[in-house]
Amino acid sequence: MEVELLSRRKGIKGLKLTAPSGYSAVVDSAKCTRCGKCVQICPYKAMQIIERDGEKQLEQSIDLCMGCGVCVDCCPSGAISLKVDPDKGEIFDVDAILQLSRMQAAATSRRASQ
Ligand code: SF4
Ligand code: SF4
Repeated sequence: MEVELLSRRKGIKGLKLTAPSGYSAVVDSAKCTRCGKCVQICPYKAMQIIERDGEKQLEQSIDLCMGCGVCVDCCPSGAISLKVDPDKGEIFDVDAILQLSRMQAAATSRRASQ
């Protein structure tokens, strides 16, 4: 992840070492208090607080968001949720991968006992 973040900072495009989860973070601006906690915790620097017309605003870069969900639990206002985002590829379904792995292990075990 560090290498990918460094390449982003250097403006190197196309170097993908981590994959998006299939989700993007969505902020409910009515609930957001602009506290900046999500800005501090986002490992991909997808959130930032900007000042516009003398007011603080939370600005999110959907392009940078990997849908990791770290910001969801850190938001004291419950303003962030994850939504399925077709632009972020297939959903990384851990349960489905585990089930597939167990089925393959069972099939291997059956073959070994025949
Ligand atoms: S942590 Fe929540 S309330 Fe704070 S800036 Fe982020 S979205 Fe807004
Ligand atoms: S989901 Fe992850 S990458 Fe996206 S804004 Fe939240 S912490 Fe950053």
